[in-house]
Amino acid sequence: MNKYDNFETLAVRIQTENSHNREHSAPIYMTSSFVFEDAEQARALFADEIAGNIYTRFSNPNSSEFIEKVCAMEGAEDGFAVASGMSAMFTSMAAFLKNGDHLLVCRSVFGSTHQIVSQIFPRWGIQHTYVDIDQPENWEKHIQPNTKMIFLETPSNPSLDLIDLEWVGKLAAKHNLILNVDNCFATPYLQTPIKWGAHLVTHSATKFMDGQGRAIGGIIVGSKELIKEVRFFSRHTGPCLSPFNSWILSKSLETLAVRMDRHCENALKLAQWLETHPEVEKVKYPFLPSHPQFDLAKKQMRQGGALVTFYVKGGVEKGRRFLDNLKMMSFSANLGDTRTIATHPASTTHSKLSDEERAQVGILPGLIRISVGLEHIDDIIKDVEQALK
Ligand SMILES: *Cc1c(COP(=O)(O)O)cnc(C)c1O
Repeated sequence: MNKYDNFETLAVRIQTENSHNREHSAPIYMTSSFVFEDAEQARALFADEIAGNIYTRFSNPNSSEFIEKVCAMEGAEDGFAVASGMSAMFTSMAAFLKNGDHLLVCRSVFGSTHQIVSQIFPRWGIQHTYVDIDQPENWEKHIQPNTKMIFLETPSNPSLDLIDLEWVGKLAAKHNLILNVDNCFATPYLQTPIKWGAHLVTHSATKFMDGQGRAIGGIIVGSKELIKEVRFFSRHTGPCLSPFNSWILSKSLETLAVRMDRHCENALKLAQWLETHPEVEKVKYPFLPSHPQFDLAKKQMRQGGALVTFYVKGGVEKGRRFLDNLKMMSFSANLGDTRTIATHPASTTHSKLSDEERAQVGILPGLIRISVGLEHIDDIIKDVEQALK
């Protein structure tokens, strides 16, 4: 396994081999292909008898370094890096599913994941059932003889409810299903689903992994056996991550632990402050003792994460006014940046849903989601305070 035991050390010390220049920081390998030593080596590479680079659609030293780091962080055997988070979600499902198969999907998953599951897969005869995060007792009865996979996110977006990973890991094992967890919100620094029985862990590396709003990327990690299927599928369908973005993301991971520590420290302070504010009806943050799953959060997460959700009194109108009043924070639908970002899902990302559909995933009219950044906490609170006035 790894030479290093600690997350911070492997994040900075896992590196591709030096070239003849003995560089300290990995160079970017901007090459589409690689040359063979001789006919025998070429034959062995194509026959998968030896490891090595052939063509950047298959592998590249930069993507390999990024993959090796994420595998070490997640406790996974192998992985494949792809061009976006959505490519990771799509590939990690499509590589395993065929006409006639069925998926169990958590209703609160990312919007585009919803579109893949409910609009694209049915064209190919792949069926699904949505299950609710707050009713785990109902999940088992929706498992069918043709169910192949469970797909979920925890904490959920934007209501920050949790799924008990140990429980769902056992459910997947009992029914011989592939458990696929989108671990984008928590990052491997806060939560490692494989430890609890997940078979695949997927990421939008665009969010906290890069964490600086620069690059789009994704990754799928899991057992050697499952990633072999993902690699076969990806090698021929071509979602590979570019060397440049691989390099950016691998570099970003060097600071993931320190960034997440500060994100979480700021988020907890903001959540605690919001709880005392008279204009705020309710605050949701996994590491607040008032969170209904506080004990579970402590069990499966190292810290509470960077997202804080709260409900302002006064519904949609007040929520919109809050956003218009912000002076420092960015108003964007994105998350996972050094800059604090505020979103009002009811009037933006989830505006196309009916009130009832929104309520099903916990999006009440006054819900504001904040992706807490790395500014000084006093400035973050100051901005929220004046916008709530
Ligand atoms: C952003 C996001 C995605 C999609 O990732 P992209 O890199 O934008 O393609 C998937 N899942 C979650 C939870 C996300 O936040």
